[in-house]
Amino acid sequence: MPDTTSAPDTALVVAIDGTSGSGKSSTSRGVAERLGLRYLDTGAMFRAMTWWMLRQGVDVTDADAVAARCEEPEILVGTDPVSPAILVDGVDVAMPIRGDEVNAAVSHVAAVPEVRALLLEQQRGVIGGGGIVVEGRDIGSVVWPQAELKIYLTADAGARAARRAAEEGGADHALTRESLLARDRIDSGRTTAPLVLADGAVHVDTTPHTLDEVIDLVVSLADAAEGRA
Ligand code: C5P
Repeated sequence: MPDTTSAPDTALVVAIDGTSGSGKSSTSRGVAERLGLRYLDTGAMFRAMTWWMLRQGVDVTDADAVAARCEEPEILVGTDPVSPAILVDGVDVAMPIRGDEVNAAVSHVAAVPEVRALLLEQQRGVIGGGGIVVEGRDIGSVVWPQAELKIYLTADAGARAARRAAEEGGADHALTRESLLARDRIDSGRTTAPLVLADGAVHVDTTPHTLDEVIDLVVSLADAAEGRA
């Protein structure tokens, strides 16, 4: 995919992990924009894989069935924090991967070791020489444990559901909360690359903070980490 994002003149890698709906995407994109870094949304890659499996009629709760087909789709991900692109076999899936069907299925697909191994290679390739903010669940622990700055974002379930429901234009608050918590349970309980607080990660509870406050904090930590890149 043509990527118009110019290569930043730093090797800095900022890893942002955390629970669903804790503000990872808004924070990561905001930090990347402020610092002129690229941005990688690894969750979008798992969502894209899940969207393709659903379209193919694959039973996403059958790990063997998912593993058998996971090499078929071509998933391309952009690194522009202003308009992050995600394509499956040339189709722009930015909208459909955020729907309820994918929300309910993605953690099952993401728990399949073959899917993780495949996307891990791709993620490391995109990170390459650095100059990037990477968000996910296992970035600081597995994908790029050598990141100069690792952040672990969490927020109260109520606050997360309220933010997500507002983003999704009035989605049902209780259902959104259940969906977020269900994903957290599967993501934290899986055997391969579970959601954990990585060694050396800074834990930020975003509940009492505005997005701008969290971005300011991460930008100041990134400025301090720059010397280690
Ligand atoms: O970040 P987002 O909510 O879009 O991620 C969707 C799902 O993708 C997560 O709930 C998780 O199951 C999976 N994921 C993962 N590892 C990552 C990023 C996302 O397992 N690095």
